Amino acid sequence: MILGQLVILTSCLSNLETETSNGNTDDITVWQYSSFAFFDTVSFVYSYKGDSQESFNANCEAVFKVLEKYHQLCDIYNEYTGIVNLCTINKNAGKEALEVDQELIDFLLYAKQIYNITSGETNIMLGSVLKLWHDARTIASNAPNEAYIPKLEHLEEANKFTSIDLLEIDDEKNTVRISSPNGRIDVGALAKGYATEKAAKLLELRQCYGYVLNIGGNIRIIGTKLDGSGWNTGIKNPIGYPTYSLYINISDTSCVTSGDYERYFVFEGKRYHHIIDKDTMMPAQYFSSVTILAKDSGLADALSTALFTMPYEDGKKLVDSLENVEAIWIYSDGTVIYTDGIHPIEIWWKIYLII
Ligand code: ADP
Ligand code: MG
Repeated sequence: MILGQLVILTSCLSNLETETSNGNTDDITVWQYSSFAFFDTVSFVYSYKGDSQESFNANCEAVFKVLEKYHQLCDIYNEYTGIVNLCTINKNAGKEALEVDQELIDFLLYAKQIYNITSGETNIMLGSVLKLWHDARTIASNAPNEAYIPKLEHLEEANKFTSIDLLEIDDEKNTVRISSPNGRIDVGALAKGYATEKAAKLLELRQCYGYVLNIGGNIRIIGTKLDGSGWNTGIKNPIGYPTYSLYINISDTSCVTSGDYERYFVFEGKRYHHIIDKDTMMPAQYFSSVTILAKDSGLADALSTALFTMPYEDGKKLVDSLENVEAIWIYSDGTVIYTDGIHPIEIWWKIYLII
């Protein structure tokens, strides 16, 4: 399938559009494949490598196998035959430790590292609080007349069970246990990015370059286009117009956005989105979106959530302390701030959307 000279990769979920500009894909077959099977979202694989359909299909199959594995391990709502996943672990909270796959041990250990790096802002043990918000969001969308926001006393009660220490990981016995029956894991902040990175690493092992993964908005680029150039990427304007707040050109990196304008519900005229500030237990109010650029998609995903829940100064300090990480903050009035490594570009030609 030849998509033509001007190709836009877009993710309505990610707030991003990635494009190849006219001329860069001359005579190169650009392959794309999509699936709705993972993480409750849409996943795309694109190849700008000019490879054969056979080779592209084999690479896609490898990517989707990885995504399926992490999708099943990290699902907190469904269990799957033959694996112990986070749903099973949550159900077993307060009971005995469960033996799990090495991949899940590694992921949970990584999540604990993220907790430390982000000073607890991205905390997978916030599940009991997040569940109250998730339930309220579900009711609001299924039965708008019954919409409510969680009561502070319920949030405070739930918050007694959010210590990261409630998550016990034994990496010798490969077991996991939540030590309180009220504790609950929620990995929504980093599972997609972590799985994306695992898939990207596999593509790298398979000698791929010129590949783009867009897993529910987690963009991960493997290499560059054949001519060595990058992809022009629009960072969505949370207030809607113009569509993009700024454009950057990226290659061999990840670009992940956390925003307040895609997953939310409205109660008494006010919007309540899905990223929760651990200190207030309410949707974080600092920004409309935060975008992270970092090669590792797992880190980018975890940081985008964390920076969304902290004041600019704290987020800037955190980004500055990490190597090769850049950030873009967009406030609710549309004001854009970014770190020194972000170099916005001018895009003035017409953009065509493929999806
Ligand atoms: P998206 O899932 O839209 O890409 P994020 O990566 O920012 O956005 O993740 C948001 C999800 O992370 C929420 O739906 C929830 O499951 C979880 N979450 C929200 N706030 C926190 C938090 N402070 N710490 C850990 N996880 C959180
Ligand atoms: Mg995230």
